[in-house]
Amino acid sequence: MLKLCEIRKSYRGHLALDGVSLLLQPGVTGLLGPNGAGKSTLMNILTDNLLPDSGEVLFDGIPIRRMGKAYRRLLGFTPQQQGLYDDFTGRRFLSYMAALKEIPRKDIGGEVERTAGLVNLSAELDQRIGAYSGGMKQRLLIAQAVLGDPRLLIFDEPTAGLDPRERVRVRQLLASLAQERTVLVATHVVPDIESIADNVILLKSGRITASGPPEELIGRY
Ligand code: ADP
Ligand code: ADP
Repeated sequence: MLKLCEIRKSYRGHLALDGVSLLLQPGVTGLLGPNGAGKSTLMNILTDNLLPDSGEVLFDGIPIRRMGKAYRRLLGFTPQQQGLYDDFTGRRFLSYMAALKEIPRKDIGGEVERTAGLVNLSAELDQRIGAYSGGMKQRLLIAQAVLGDPRLLIFDEPTAGLDPRERVRVRQLLASLAQERTVLVATHVVPDIESIADNVILLKSGRITASGPPEELIGRY
């Protein structure tokens, strides 16, 4: 469904992505690479937040640049945990994000309840985000990504800063979301993806060095 063709991107002469081509299929794909490998750059390009210098991202054969808002509606994205609105309640944050995603006003209340239920935050929706644990904040960001039920979900370092129990919980949650969806999880830590990914892509210095099932690839990382 999502295809990247020969993506190149440099920042003032520094080559961050050097001809990346890949096909994302339904299920979980793990994008595994050390810091500086180009993961964030790649995610910014495939969420249409950054233009590549050359190459193309196609969704069902159509360049995403030409799809505009229609592409954004198909996409849910969890950026790294920062800039969460501490003084908002969870409900206010999700309602606000739903409005930004242009979910019809009459559907927002129900959509907030549905997504909070998916991430098991229903009971805490009316608490301040500032009082949430790291794991709760991460689950709230995941709920935000699932608003409007997009087919494509992208998670950037989804377990960063979480304690071991919360990590396991977030990984299980990501795996459960992969039913009938295409999920990309970018991480520099193997345990994030080894038990949930159907396919793993190794990225190093802006190039894909290998891809395949996790059991074959993880030893090479
Ligand atoms: P990762 O997410 O895997 O850590 P990034 O995509 O953030 O990798 O970075 C890839 C490379 O590009 C790194 O060498 C990084 O320092 C560089 N880079 C990323 N963003 C910028 C930027 N805005 N300006 C200059 N260099 C950047
Ligand atoms: P990550 O590894 O998650 O991408 P970074 O610390 O590499 O985190 O990047 C954080 C932000 O800084 C990103 O917006 C990235 O584009 C930018 N950035 C990364 N490296 C550089 C760099 N060398 N020069 C300027 N901006 C950079």
